[in-house]
Amino acid sequence: MTARILDGTKLAAEIRAEVAAEVKQISASGVRPGLAVVLVGHNPASEVYVRGKVKSSQEVGLYSEQHSPPESATTEELLALIESLNGRDEIDGILVQLPLPPQVDSKKVLLAVDPAKDVDGFHPMNVGYLSTQRPGLVPCTPAGVMEILRRSGIAVAGQEAVVVGRSDIVGKPVAMLLLNQNATVTVCHSKTRDLPGVCRRADILVAAIGRAGMVTREFVRPGATVIDVGINKVTERAEFDRLFAGNAKRLETFISKGSTLVGDVHPEVAEVAGAITPVPGGVGPLTIAMLMSNTVKAAKLRRAGRS
Ligand code: NDP
Repeated sequence: MTARILDGTKLAAEIRAEVAAEVKQISASGVRPGLAVVLVGHNPASEVYVRGKVKSSQEVGLYSEQHSPPESATTEELLALIESLNGRDEIDGILVQLPLPPQVDSKKVLLAVDPAKDVDGFHPMNVGYLSTQRPGLVPCTPAGVMEILRRSGIAVAGQEAVVVGRSDIVGKPVAMLLLNQNATVTVCHSKTRDLPGVCRRADILVAAIGRAGMVTREFVRPGATVIDVGINKVTERAEFDRLFAGNAKRLETFISKGSTLVGDVHPEVAEVAGAITPVPGGVGPLTIAMLMSNTVKAAKLRRAGRS
């Protein structure tokens, strides 16, 4: 059996088209929803992410602006910037790209973002809304995981869901979203006993670990849905061979680029799973699409609250 591939690139395009239509509608009745992205310093990976976010904002018709304080920025300077964005009516979403430089108190800066504009969904107020099932802003990657399941027609209610990883950004909110949709949820982490055995219970297995190809065939019950959140860069030939032995196409890219991307799930799992997200092209594209969707949601929630 070969798993059904859950095509995140296609689903993300669908979501972007829906968001673009909503942006058009909201803009016609008043002000265009707006996103402000704050990128401190010159972290190359962050620059790539922010470029993607700004480009996507323009494509769906959002107003967007980028703020680029220098690497030497202080906590106070960033707090002043956040305060000014909080106060501007044309800004519906504020995204502070992480990581921030070491001299900055990141928690303090994130806490300063108005929860109504917190499109990353990291503010404790939004975390509380999620856990008490009130309307709020949900972190983008976890929201993307749920969209993949929903749009692929994979039932959640009553299913056994196992989430490996308990970070505030991915694991915990994914677990909460699955629970809110009536799955029976188990959350695993580095201290979990018999991880493969616990994972084999899953109808839906979500891997958000940060370890290349750690989830192997023996973690997966035949027919289960496997959502691979991990993004890991493989640069060593031995590791490449463990993951992609016999894959001539990947080998060609690996040799020409010196690296390749792999998720937390070993490619062999596609032989036992019922459905699986690829890496790249699975959860990744949904993250930016959900940021666009969150910005529109923030605009609607804030404007509804005012009327
Ligand atoms: P964190 O490092 O914050 O969390 C990793 C989690 O995995 C922790 O809870 C940790 O357990 C657990 N873990 C680590 N090693 C093991 C192990 N051997 N066995 C069981 N559990 C283990 O990572 P994130 O949640 O931020 O990210 C996870 C992955 O998702 C990364 O690859 C990241 O690059 C990717 N990612 C992808 C995104 C996308 O858009 N697709 C967005 C965000 C992240 P413990 O708590 O006990 O330490």
